Amino acid sequence: MFFSRSIGASAARRALSLSSRNGSSLVVAEVAGGDVTPGTLATITAASKIGPDVTVFVAGHNVGAAAAKVANVKGVSKVLVADNAALANKVAEAHSAALVGVAKNFTHVLAPASNHGKNFIPRAAALLDSSPLTDVVSVVDENTFQRPVYAGNAIATMKMTDAIKFILVRPTAFEKAATTGGSGKIENVDAGVSSSPSAKFVSESQTKSERPDLGTARVVVSGGRGMKSGENFKMLETLADKLGGAVGASRAAVDAGFVPNDYQVGQTGKVVAPDLYIAVSTLRIISLSTR
Ligand SMILES: Cc1cc2nc3c(=O)[nH]c(=O)nc-3n(C[C@H](O)[C@H](O)[C@H](O)COP(=O)(O)OP(=O)(O)OC[C@H]3O[C@@H](n4cnc5c(N)ncnc54)[C@H](O)[C@@H]3O)c2cc1C
Repeated sequence: MFFSRSIGASAARRALSLSSRNGSSLVVAEVAGGDVTPGTLATITAASKIGPDVTVFVAGHNVGAAAAKVANVKGVSKVLVADNAALANKVAEAHSAALVGVAKNFTHVLAPASNHGKNFIPRAAALLDSSPLTDVVSVVDENTFQRPVYAGNAIATMKMTDAIKFILVRPTAFEKAATTGGSGKIENVDAGVSSSPSAKFVSESQTKSERPDLGTARVVVSGGRGMKSGENFKMLETLADKLGGAVGASRAAVDAGFVPNDYQVGQTGKVVAPDLYIAVSTLRIISLSTR
């Protein structure tokens, strides 16, 4: 399947004038617990397939430690740091405003296809007259990318002609870049974000778990409607803990209230890519997506 997205003549001219920048990519890092996420490392790998010039943008508050770590990641040539109290939380309006200021110098802007990425990347892209490509699973060349369509039943090959290509990368489709071997130069940038954006952070509530994240776990033990109760899921939790894995569930099990919504695997749940997937009492997760 081949889709070609067409843009206006002026944008095409801009694309041409920017071709001298030859695949200079900006990866927008996602920071958690003083480090960049595994999804960020996978996004760096995707960016390095576009070209060798990979810069990482670290936006947040007190993100110096994360910036220092990502500077060591293999393939990273530069790290731009925007440290600002207004970026302390994942408010899309503030993060997109910060990104717009630096994105103009790059041909490609990539971020992990996480909830945060899906929130602020389209805003930044719209401000720069681009339309983002989501859930990219393969880089064909610097203008051509692949993404799943029809619940993963077909792969679309997309040619982008935007001057600045905004891309959300599906982290499970790329290997994580090695956390050593890089020597990125760290540079502070003025993010230019106001401390009173139109949206204000109120609170964040997170499910805390000792188990690995479902989206990146190497082992997933998943239960379906046949588990019959939340109490019975404890058996799967015990097995997952013995295997060092995460616990997942079908939509039917989630809808029945056996387990919380963030356990759900599949088209309307989380994308998983484990080495071992154990499914118990599930029949037909037709929309199971594992890439
Ligand atoms: C647009 C759309 C999006 C969807 N997105 C998702 C999604 O993201 N994730 C998802 O999971 N689903 C999704 N679904 C729903 C999906 O199609 C299935 O309906 C659902 O996954 C079925 O869940 P299940 O296999 O647990 O339940 P069932 O199909 O009911 O299967 C339960 C199985 O357990 C067996 N069983 C029953 N009792 C026992 C027992 N005592 N011991 C052992 N086995 C037993 C049964 O024989 C059966 O095989 C989506 C559907 C649509 C239309």
